Amino acid sequence: MRAIVVRGSQALKEKFDLIVIGGGSGGIAHARRAAEYGARVAVIEYGPLGGTCVNVGCVPKKIMWYTTSHKYQLDHAADYGFEVTVNGHDWAGLKSRRDAYVRRLNGIYEINLDRSGVTYLAGVGRFIDAHTIGVGDNQYHADRIVIATGGRPIVPDIPGAEHGVTSDDFFALDERPERVLVVGSGYVAVELAGVFNALGSQTRVVVRKDSVIRSFDDMLGQELMQAMVRDGIELETQVIPALVEKTDQGFVLQAEDGRSFGPVDCILWAIGRAPNVEGLEFDRAGVLSNERGFIPTDMLQQTNIEHIFALGDVTGREALTPVAIAAGRRLADRLYGGMEGRHLDYDLIPTVIFSHPPIGTVGATEDAARAEHGDAIKVYTSTFTPMYYALGAKKSRSVMKLITAGSEEKIIGCHVIGDGADEMLQGFAVAIRMGATKADFDDTVAIHPTNAEELVTMR
Ligand code: FAD
Ligand code: NDP
Repeated sequence: MRAIVVRGSQALKEKFDLIVIGGGSGGIAHARRAAEYGARVAVIEYGPLGGTCVNVGCVPKKIMWYTTSHKYQLDHAADYGFEVTVNGHDWAGLKSRRDAYVRRLNGIYEINLDRSGVTYLAGVGRFIDAHTIGVGDNQYHADRIVIATGGRPIVPDIPGAEHGVTSDDFFALDERPERVLVVGSGYVAVELAGVFNALGSQTRVVVRKDSVIRSFDDMLGQELMQAMVRDGIELETQVIPALVEKTDQGFVLQAEDGRSFGPVDCILWAIGRAPNVEGLEFDRAGVLSNERGFIPTDMLQQTNIEHIFALGDVTGREALTPVAIAAGRRLADRLYGGMEGRHLDYDLIPTVIFSHPPIGTVGATEDAARAEHGDAIKVYTSTFTPMYYALGAKKSRSVMKLITAGSEEKIIGCHVIGDGADEMLQGFAVAIRMGATKADFDDTVAIHPTNAEELVTMR
């Protein structure tokens, strides 16, 4: 085995070309690519390998989304002639299979580090000086250091906040709580509320403004709220949390305006994330972070210190796994692969929200497009009920929006909510990135019968 796995104290002093702090999506991608170019690389990780995505993010979340997708399909089984009796849902059994899958992935990540010749140092990394990282009693020197320490969920600074759980705790729940209150309006809030609701929890979502997923095109939030309510989620807007009380009947959230929500068995805080920077002792290396703790970098992922780089969630840019991976690999291509200037372009990053129905979105919102291009934009929309729902009474609708700019009608935004949006968007994102115009979409022959064909038949 080429890789060294160092656990505990051996009072080592070693030298590497590159040390990566954080063995999550971005750190591992960068380390392996750099090692494949011949660099001598170490990755430091104190938790399970794979970081947020593998352990408490994308992977276990997607398993839960598949679970709820089964539930939605079961709702329509009778329309298609099946006589199905569902005898509840085994949350604990699902969790145990999901945990086993995540553990398998942890092992695969360790094997892959080894195959790439990366040294895996298990422990907490901290700066000793600008070229030296301490892990326990050991010190490791490197020409370059990459900070890829990710982030963690936050809870509000209000009395009783400790009675709530975060997305990390969600994945540790051994049983499904019967009554749930989700606080927040972003990705995590709508995705996990959808899971609880579909699997049978009485689910209420409180948002502090007037909509969910407000950073996306307004149409998506409005449609999603309707879909959530149609599916039985109770949604309350303008709720600013003030206090959580533990009562004999359960937890109760008091809002600033006097409204109270509960009692419930579980309050889930889904109000965003903070960067993992505590204990890194940046002052010893002179690395600067911003007022929220994120580490600013230039477009080449370089911090204020020439040989120290940062990537992924800790930089405060789009907090998505493929973004962290792409930034990591491109940085390695540039530093060790001779690809001068190679970097990640943070424009036109496609993303999917695994709600029910799912959302796929890339590019400018209508508001942002109008602010930038004024009357030079043109907006195409299509609203329809997919054929899938033709045989039954329970329906879910799809809405699509294309935004074009200029006389050539270049597509600058594409927003879809509806069945299949999650798998539909990747290919369209390629076309849009290549500069596709509305005429290119119109000239592409539709694939029938699909939901996606609506994107090339809009008038
Ligand atoms: P991380 O993956 O968080 O890795 C950082 C690692 O650094 C961690 O393992 C941590 O233990 C380690 N670390 C921190 N400090 C130290 C230290 N001092 N010493 C040693 N190790 C340290 N993104 C998507 O693209 N699609 C999704 O569907 C999706 N779903 C998500 C669902 C949830 C519930 C959450 C919370 C996130 C989701 N994300 C999703 C976001 C995605 O998980 C993150 O963007 C991604 O994991 C960021 O990668 P990273 O390498 O920057 O950080
Ligand atoms: P987000 O930043 O997406 O959303 C959190 C929202 O909560 C804020 O936008 C804000 O919305 C609201 N909020 C903030 N503070 C408070 C407060 N004190 N009280 C009530 N509401 C508050 O964070 P998430 O935790 O949902 O997700 C973190 C990141 O992880 C995402 O941004 C995404 O990048 C990534 N992720 C990606 C997923 C995917 O790719 N499918 C899935 C899950 C996470 P408002 O201003 O409207 O109140």
